[in-house]
Amino acid sequence: MLIENEEVVTDAPLCLCNVVLNTEKTSPTLIYDKKTGYYLMYCKKCGFKTNSSQNKQSVITDWFYSNIQGNAHIKTRWIQRYNKQQGTAITSGGTSPSKGE
Ligand SMILES: [Zn+2]
Repeated sequence: MLIENEEVVTDAPLCLCNVVLNTEKTSPTLIYDKKTGYYLMYCKKCGFKTNSSQNKQSVITDWFYSNIQGNAHIKTRWIQRYNKQQGTAITSGGTSPSKGE
């Protein structure tokens, strides 16, 4: 994969790994593969990534809607997607229905 361009996108939402995995706050990195013409956004800290697409805006939109802070449904989906991408089995500690034990 020949990557021509790589930039940290500081005006995009922080990766949700700072909430789910308690890592330091990390802005996503946008990469552009000149060979294939595909864009991808990912987190250098945890490896969470968007779908790759030749449409830059759709990649950015994917990131935005995948990393909304303070939304339980988004968080659950983020965890499911992260587990699928990374082959892990982490669970959401903060959204347990048996809260208050
Ligand atoms: Zn991350």
